[in-house]
Amino acid sequence: MERFAGRTIKKDKRNIAYFSMEIGLDSKIPTYSGGLGILAGDTIRSCADLHIPVVATTLLYRKGYFTQKLDSHGNQTESDVKWKPELFLKKTDKKVIVEIEDRKVAVTAWQYNVTGVAGYKIPVIFLDTNLKENNPYDRNITNWLYGGDWKYRLCQEIILGIGGVRILEALGYNKIKKYHMNEGHSSLLIFELLRRQKGRKKKLTRKDYDAVRSKCLFTTHTPVPSGHDHFPLDVVKNSLKNIISPEEIDAMSYQGNLDLTHLAMDNSQYINGVAKKHGEISRKMFPGHLIDSITNGIHSVVWTSKYFREIYDKYIPGWQKDSFSLRYALGIPDYEIWNAHKKAKKDLIDYVNKEHPSADLKSHIFTIGFARRSATYKRGTLLFSDINRLLEIAQKKGEIQIIYAGKAHPNDSQGKEIIKFIFSKMKELKGKISVVYLENYGIEIAKKIVSGVDLWLNTPQKPLEASGTSGMKACHNGIPNLSILDGWWIEGHIENKTGWSIGTKAENSNEEDARDLYYKLDEKIVPKYYNNREQWINIMKHSIAYNASFFNTHRMMHQYVLNAYFR
Ligand SMILES: *Cc1c(COP(=O)(O)O)cnc(C)c1O
Repeated sequence: MERFAGRTIKKDKRNIAYFSMEIGLDSKIPTYSGGLGILAGDTIRSCADLHIPVVATTLLYRKGYFTQKLDSHGNQTESDVKWKPELFLKKTDKKVIVEIEDRKVAVTAWQYNVTGVAGYKIPVIFLDTNLKENNPYDRNITNWLYGGDWKYRLCQEIILGIGGVRILEALGYNKIKKYHMNEGHSSLLIFELLRRQKGRKKKLTRKDYDAVRSKCLFTTHTPVPSGHDHFPLDVVKNSLKNIISPEEIDAMSYQGNLDLTHLAMDNSQYINGVAKKHGEISRKMFPGHLIDSITNGIHSVVWTSKYFREIYDKYIPGWQKDSFSLRYALGIPDYEIWNAHKKAKKDLIDYVNKEHPSADLKSHIFTIGFARRSATYKRGTLLFSDINRLLEIAQKKGEIQIIYAGKAHPNDSQGKEIIKFIFSKMKELKGKISVVYLENYGIEIAKKIVSGVDLWLNTPQKPLEASGTSGMKACHNGIPNLSILDGWWIEGHIENKTGWSIGTKAENSNEEDARDLYYKLDEKIVPKYYNNREQWINIMKHSIAYNASFFNTHRMMHQYVLNAYFR
């Protein structure tokens, strides 16, 4: 047992280990890049609130993901994030060795505790190879999230999976019954579990494989095959030669490679996708596997602005512990909803105008928000497909202003082009529709945008948005969604009640989607915002009551506990 601030973490009671390549807990701890890491952070917070006996494991990225700078044309440059882990995390005195090829790489661990509403703590263990005894290459293994080449990535995944299992044991977590892999990056842990299972025997038996399988759970997150890490078998055999035999690696191969998603699928007792539709798609992508679905959520308290927290505290006491009770938001008086929204919007507009004085946004103008990774499938430029049509709506139905944010991965040249395209439209629209692009999207900026705009826009290419979560954050702040029917929105959308769809459930072309997007703004949304405030607030309330009450990580963790962890 270890004491932290008066509360104990009973290590022999922690029986679930949660592994994630990225975990986003705080904007000052830059060990996340986007949705996957934010989900991991929110998951851990809900485990703390709900007393679910989890210990979480990730890597300590001393250089973070990256800091984004944009010049006046929208050209992105990246630099290392500067932060001091010792200000936020506590270094442990434990060290383990992980063999990679013929090297013995030393790994240590840092700890951060997430405290729930009633004081229960979840330890988050950050693995770190920056130790004197390691050679310069190995000291860098845990430095950059999603940086480096595929060999670097393989080293990181060896440290995360194999180093993670070893460090948890060294730290005294010796009653782990379930290993939950949040995406395939950590699935090499399966080899470490098999090694332990094998002991001194010459060969692994069917029983050994079954024993490991009964301990593993896997959540898949992407319907994009290129999103699944895979490595040449000979490289993996050489890297892991001191851990597992070449025959045992061969037994896990897929199409001549070691594919971490298939490794996880083949060796997990429970597998799930992150929304109903994503479950269906995953079952098609991976025939022969039983794949369930648990729709993602977000942590209600973290993503609700202080103004909405105040009215929830007043009208729905207990909601912080019980997100389901947001159902009762329908009883909150309209003026309270509107005042809370106005305050959150003013905070956002003041912040944007301070950062970008030339933007000159106005609090009374209908404001659209679009913020997420700048990846091609998110189609950040759909709103600008027909500038004249957009201008016509703004002139005839009411003024519009737009706030963008999002980083492109350093190697994603198409993602970078999207940002430049938005900047070019920003110039074209100057004086008619104000458009701003906020730099360096992260947790802090996300909190401001998802609570301060009037409409949350999402335009992914179907069926590539496995779930999406930023729209759920908007719901918690009473902000309606306008989105393609993909991911979570298929489940959360009730036309004219919780927001609006773009396109149909069938396949639509970019042109069809753009046409419907403009139609909805023109006919359904902008007029309602300006001329029928009562109906608008009604939609805000239904966004909270129907969607915030369900699309949260408390509900999600109830499902993991009942359907996955303890079954
Ligand atoms: C919520 C969030 C995301 C994920 O948003 P999606 O809509 O799921 O793409 C990415 N980055 C940050 C900083 C977030 O807060």
